[in-house]
Amino acid sequence: MTLNSQNLIGASQQQLRDVLASIGVPEKQLAQRTKQIFHGIYIRGATQFSQMASLGKDLQHALQKDFTLDRPEIVTEQISIDGTRKWLLRFPQPDGPAVEVETVYIPESDRGTLCVSSQVGCSFNCSFCYTGTQPMMKNLTPGEILAQIMVARDRLADYSGDATEVEGEFPSTGRKVSNIVMMGMGEPLLNFENVKQALLIALSDDGLGFSRRRITLSTSGVVPGIARTGDELKVALAISLHAVRDELRDVLVPINRKYPLRELLDACRQYTGLSNARRITFEYVMLKGVNDSMEDAQELIRLLSDIPSKINLIPFNPWPRTQYECSDEQTIAAFARHLHQHGYSSPVRATRGQDIMAACGQLKSESHSAVRLN
Ligand code: SAH
Ligand code: SF4
Repeated sequence: MTLNSQNLIGASQQQLRDVLASIGVPEKQLAQRTKQIFHGIYIRGATQFSQMASLGKDLQHALQKDFTLDRPEIVTEQISIDGTRKWLLRFPQPDGPAVEVETVYIPESDRGTLCVSSQVGCSFNCSFCYTGTQPMMKNLTPGEILAQIMVARDRLADYSGDATEVEGEFPSTGRKVSNIVMMGMGEPLLNFENVKQALLIALSDDGLGFSRRRITLSTSGVVPGIARTGDELKVALAISLHAVRDELRDVLVPINRKYPLRELLDACRQYTGLSNARRITFEYVMLKGVNDSMEDAQELIRLLSDIPSKINLIPFNPWPRTQYECSDEQTIAAFARHLHQHGYSSPVRATRGQDIMAACGQLKSESHSAVRLN
């Protein structure tokens, strides 16, 4: 792939090498210069080539002439009463109006998770998901995916050697952004090449240096992409299951009509069979009177009995004009108890950032429609 952007965030090491060669860097320096630039971008968080002292003035100037490390514009930054942060980011486009995406940061005592978007809008219309009401606008580029992580690190002063203090709630040890979940807007497996290029940089020791178990990719069930994720990325996998019978899943998660439960669960079995692959997380949104009966809980246990798995019950997060309601507390508790009795620990996921519409399924940018959320 050749680089078709002047912004070097998201360029692979090979693309960067080609850029350097094209501006006259001698062949024998290419490997070292590439490493220095990666280090500057991802480990130090440089926003200007002039901050990369190791390059020397001449190369800094040459790069500055044609290339940038620009971040997207931060349109809004909201901080929830529980410490969750949400950014609305605007990315200029070479061939049309700018697009906007949302990125969410969720601090907990032992980790700080960044929920990253892979597309603007989503082409799957899962009936309970707010993002699904927005038309699919664009696959984010590797740079636009990585820039979400870089902006979070910028705003939280989370690069190596950052001395700035940021007020707020953060994990008690380690990095502020310690985990990445591809659970923002969009279906990552429909934008596989770009997600892959971004995650390979996130995983690389020369790049952001995340370990595979600290990156989770969530899919609504694009079966062919699951095997590719296993072969080419080997990150942790989450499946948006939400229903245990095809008839209902066809409605809640319409991609099920193309890849029904049997095929989806077969792909999951194979994923966990790979060396190093661990348990798969199954997401199950609790919808009142729709998928929350004890029979559903029993069937869920049966379906997953031969797959090493975790289950996350997600209380449904309402959004304007949705037809669904969240299950009652007692119903969720009874459902969770049943799962607990079958060996699934703490299956209910706490809702975070609800006051700023940052919870699961509430992300939607207004690149397209008229109503603003903030
Ligand atoms: N498209 C991918 C990645 C998005 S992840 C996927 O669907 O897996 C977002 C998660 O939030 C998914 O599990 C999704 O099913 C869930 N979700 C969507 N709308 C929701 C809502 N209103 N309340 C709770 N969870 C929701
Ligand atoms: Fe798209 Fe995932 Fe929302 Fe479904 S749940 S509409 S796949 S973002």
